[in-house]
Order: sequence, then C-alpha cells, then structure tokens
Amino acid sequence: MWRATLLTLFPAMFPGSLGQSLAGRALANGVWSCETLDLRDFGLGRHRQVDDTPFGGGAGMVMRPDVVDAACEAAAPGGRPLIFLTPRGKPLTQALVRDLAAGPGAVLLCGRYEGVDQRVIEAREMIEVSVGDYVLSGGEPAALVLLDACVRLLPGVMGAVESGEEESFSAGLLEYPHYTRPAEWEGRDVPPVLLSGHHAEVAAWRLEESRRATRERRPDLWNRCASHGGALAAAAG
Ligand code: SAM
Repeated sequence: MWRATLLTLFPAMFPGSLGQSLAGRALANGVWSCETLDLRDFGLGRHRQVDDTPFGGGAGMVMRPDVVDAACEAAAPGGRPLIFLTPRGKPLTQALVRDLAAGPGAVLLCGRYEGVDQRVIEAREMIEVSVGDYVLSGGEPAALVLLDACVRLLPGVMGAVESGEEESFSAGLLEYPHYTRPAEWEGRDVPPVLLSGHHAEVAAWRLEESRRATRERRPDLWNRCASHGGALAAAAG
C-alpha cells in the first residue's frame, strides 16, 4: 500500500476531493492510505503554539522548527521522502510524480503563515516542492495536487494503461486535442483524419498536433524535449 502522511494544521482538509472518484475508490480498496497528523498536537504550552515571530523582523509568523520536528518524528517516514510544499521548491513535474508513485509513499508537510523555519527543513533533509509560480494560503491544496497526481499512477487506479502512457508530458510533449460525437457540432467539424479509420495517419496527426501545441504553448518544454516526440513516433510504428 502506498502511504501518505500529511502534517497539517487542517487535518479535516484530507482526503477532501481525493475521497471521490478514482482516488476515492483506490483509497477504499486499500491501494493507498491517507493519514493526518495535526501539527497543533505538537504545539507548545497551554495554547499549543506552533509558530513565532520571524528573526530579523517583518510581517507574519513562522512555523517553529521544534514543533515541526516532533511531528516529523511521529510520522515515522521510514523509507518515504519527506516533502515540504513551498513556492520556493523545485517544480512538481510528471517525472517527479512518477518517481514518487513508484516509491513507498510520502510524508507531506503543509506550511501556513510565512512558512517553516529553514533549519528543520535542512535537518530533516526535506525535498522542497512547488506546485506553481503563485502563492497559496497554505500547503494543503498543494499536497492534494501532488497526491492526486501520484495516486492516479498507482497500479490498478487508472482504467486503461495507455491513458497514463500517452498523456501530456509522458514524452515531454503536451497531449493532442480530443474529439467525440457528434462529428459536426455548431458548424464545427472533427478533423477528417480522425474519422478515416487509418491508424497510422491518426497517430501521425496526433503526434504533429502534440508537437504544434508544445511549440506554440510551451516553448520551454519544446526546447527541453530533445526527441520532440520521436519516442512516440517510433511506438506508433
Ligand atoms: N511567504 C511564503 C513565500 O513568499 O514563499 C509564502 C507562504 S504561503 C502564504 C503559506 C504556505 O503555503 C507555504 O509555507 C507553503 O506550504 C504553501 N504554499 C503556498 N504556495 C505554494 C506553492 N506554489 N507550492 C507549494 N506550496 C505552497
């Protein structure tokens, strides 16, 4: 079973939307587990204080290293990576998601306030991960994003194996566009090649659309993708 442990001030936010649909079924079937540890339980004093003012001054509060460390200890990561969700982290990519999904699970620290004292991040060798170049009010939605992306890759969670192999980022490209019935809608036709029944031509069209979308929408990905979908072309035969 793939184990997720969330260190959070808001345990009621989990499993949240992941209790529904594919991930929810997988949770009920024991494919993965979702435990929470309330950071407040490790807080200090009568008020269970978890944060304090920042050294050096400035606005906001910072989560204390001793409190976070005690929660990390209680989480007993074992062989699981300890991940701190933060806008300062490395970007969450499909490659990282694949690595995490292939492992035993993860312990996810959800920050609040201005963030977490850097010393515990370093002492616990946390992997700092960002879900995008914007600032959320807390790490919980970021943890839900990371979990959703991992859980759908766990064995048996997705219906068809292909849906994981051909989608966006699998070959470094964005996915091609999709169409379904009706073949003509509001004066808009489905690209004729998709109605041709000619598999090789459909595969070639899809690859070209993937390349075009990536070139136009994500030049950063396009420039990094050395094969430009060559692996997909080879697979399509
Ligand atoms: N002061 C921080 C900064 O400017 O980088 C932002 C703190 S934010 C209000 C509170 C918490 O939300 C962070 O500690 C982090 O856990 C989480 N968070 C916010 N944006 C995030 C993002 N893009 N990716 C991952 N976690 C994020």
